[in-house]
Amino acid sequence: MLDADYLVVGAGASGLAFTDALVSYTDATVAIVDRRGDPGGHWCDAYPFVRLHQASAFYGVASMLLGGGRRQSAGPEAGLHERASGAEVRAYCSTVLDTLVATGRVAYVGGYEHVGAGMMRRLDDAGAASVRVRPGARIVDARFLSPTIPATSPPPFEVAADTTVLPVGRLDACLDASRLVIVGSGKTATDAVVHALGAGVDPGRITWVRPREPWMLDRAVAQPDPAVFTGMAAAVWESAARARSLEELFARLEDAGVMLRIDRAVTPTMAKTPTLARWELALLREVEDVARLGHLRRVERRGLSFEDGDVPLPPGAAVVHCAADGLPRPAPVPVWTTDAITLQPIRAGFPCFGAALIGYVEATRSDDHAKNALCPPTSYGDTRAQWAEMTVRGARSVAAYSREPDIRAWAREVHLNPARVPQGYASRAWDEARERIARADAAATRRLAELAGIAP
Ligand SMILES: Cc1cc2nc3c(=O)[nH]c(=O)nc-3n(C[C@H](O)[C@H](O)[C@H](O)COP(=O)(O)OP(=O)(O)OC[C@H]3O[C@@H](n4cnc5c(N)ncnc54)[C@H](O)[C@@H]3O)c2cc1C
Repeated sequence: MLDADYLVVGAGASGLAFTDALVSYTDATVAIVDRRGDPGGHWCDAYPFVRLHQASAFYGVASMLLGGGRRQSAGPEAGLHERASGAEVRAYCSTVLDTLVATGRVAYVGGYEHVGAGMMRRLDDAGAASVRVRPGARIVDARFLSPTIPATSPPPFEVAADTTVLPVGRLDACLDASRLVIVGSGKTATDAVVHALGAGVDPGRITWVRPREPWMLDRAVAQPDPAVFTGMAAAVWESAARARSLEELFARLEDAGVMLRIDRAVTPTMAKTPTLARWELALLREVEDVARLGHLRRVERRGLSFEDGDVPLPPGAAVVHCAADGLPRPAPVPVWTTDAITLQPIRAGFPCFGAALIGYVEATRSDDHAKNALCPPTSYGDTRAQWAEMTVRGARSVAAYSREPDIRAWAREVHLNPARVPQGYASRAWDEARERIARADAAATRRLAELAGIAP
């Protein structure tokens, strides 16, 4: 029997961010359980060339900055904030866990699966060993929004028996293929194309299967800098206030330098909006053989079968699976229920900040009903309407928690919060951006709700 006040299920960034905030503000004891032996969640199985797509400062736990909070001084992203590699994220998560365990109030139960109601089963060969947390411990679900990644999920299309489809993590093994087929429209696929081109693959040798066109956020405007980040928010608010349709909203965001698309001749319908740098965009545009024939149904040695047609493949072609769903979209649930505390983003799109905020609110308040009122969850976007919904719900959540002076003060200091304002910060551009948001606020939030199809 494990004697702990909380059982956190999942040692990914969400579980660590919650635990870190909770133990920073209480004397609570916590057991963290994970199927994996090591902390770090999906980063443990990530492809070798993965990096955070956002600045490192926005990721991880509140008490320990990931990286040095530096700007890149060389390379194509000079001037933008550093972004950790997968190996750096894993090493950071290990350090965070060690630091938590060293408090004497956190225990790690690695290699065990939570099977429900506080019961955990060991996953090694012996299999049968189990342990449970003491009755009354609060269960924290830190895997509700665990991403689906190609290394651990099969391709969402049929693969003929005589054919091999490689997950993105094996990309380096097939760079010499006669034709390199990259399947997917999201961040993983764009990373794969950028990596292959960087490794010297001729763009004419790549076929990119892109069933949907993605909108992506220009990385330069999503930076840990109050004037830059608030300037981006002001552009979103002004664009939303004037947009008569979702198509017009995203066109305005593109004109305002917020959103990017790969092919200007095609209107994207996908809006998961990972960040992308302009140097990456220039590379992506070099690939001209784009298969837009609906979803890929089946891969055979001789060709690809789509919803709307077939594409032949030459002998020696390699197909690379970058088509996992990534961030899931279950319907949001209240964070605090009698069964569990379910970690979710609160302000739009920053899962680590959301988990840390939930940890802080759990530490400083006792009434679950009041806590839920302060932290209405947001879900991730996939379509443009869902992006509008995420954005307006996120704004409502910020307004809800910001009404409490202590939470407002805490959030203002936390580097995970993209709207953080360092002590003594002053900037004319920041003041102007806030004035622009205030002017557009009523019209923007009303219009976003209309475009999302939710109550104003
Ligand atoms: C390639 C990639 C890049 C990303 N880049 C960024 C970024 O730059 N910025 C950003 O904010 N977000 C980014 N994200 C998203 C982000 O990493 C995650 O959404 C979130 O922050 C961390 O995930 P998590 O902790 O919720 O889930 P995970 O990392 O998946 O961790 C969940 C853990 O729960 C464990 N688990 C599940 N079920 C059980 C069970 N029953 N018993 C025991 N253990 C269990 C799993 O083994 C897993 O280790 C990225 C995601 C991907 C895929």
